[in-house]
Amino acid sequence: MRIVFLGAPGAGKGTQARLLAEKHHIPQVSTGDILRAAVREGTPLGLEAKGYLDRGELVPDALMIGVIRDRIGCEDCAKGYILDGFPRTLEQARALDEMLASIGAPLDVAIDFHVPTEELLRRLTGRRVCRNCGASFNVVSAPPKVEGVCDHCGGELFQRADDNIETVSKRQKVYHEQTAPITEYYRQRGVLREVDGTRGIEEIQAELERILMGVSAAK
Ligand code: AMP
Repeated sequence: MRIVFLGAPGAGKGTQARLLAEKHHIPQVSTGDILRAAVREGTPLGLEAKGYLDRGELVPDALMIGVIRDRIGCEDCAKGYILDGFPRTLEQARALDEMLASIGAPLDVAIDFHVPTEELLRRLTGRRVCRNCGASFNVVSAPPKVEGVCDHCGGELFQRADDNIETVSKRQKVYHEQTAPITEYYRQRGVLREVDGTRGIEEIQAELERILMGVSAAK
């Protein structure tokens, strides 16, 4: 199953992608994670991307399209994947479609997570992420059992550099201006499904399973 997750930063894409990937044994392809790892390791991609990440702006399309082309060409993506954070512009969405059409493996579904902006700001500024397994917590709404420690693996929790209020607001603005129009693109292609991202993690998980069952039955 080839799946795209859409929705503003903080809508829960990463959390749901991680759970779905584990359950279905397909990789979660998070372009944000790929870029943060590149920045950490100081690779040429990381050096080029760092300024954009720090400012909450989008990394240029040409660079991102290359990143995704390389990643979905890997062996572990042969049976499917969940794209979490890509595409983020219409140009990326079109390039992805072309890429997939050329190998005869089109996208199965694009799932858009809806969450009001106020809630997104609250989620992102309180977010803490596990350095080891990537699990997300929230200091207000979903705190870990022990402060600063991951419930799942005992790893250290940290606050992403771009989860401060200024950069978070910028990322929301960028989302509305550059990413939100993609929803319409996928609607017109008949692959869009929409979910209410304000509900509990398990409820959303169950709805995603229903959506995927419907999509595979229609295949
Ligand atoms: P995320 O972890 O998905 O919130 O992404 C963090 C940051 O990485 C974004 O604010 C962008 O600077 C960059 N980024 C991630 N994915 C993309 C993409 N598909 N296109 C451009 N920039 C991206």
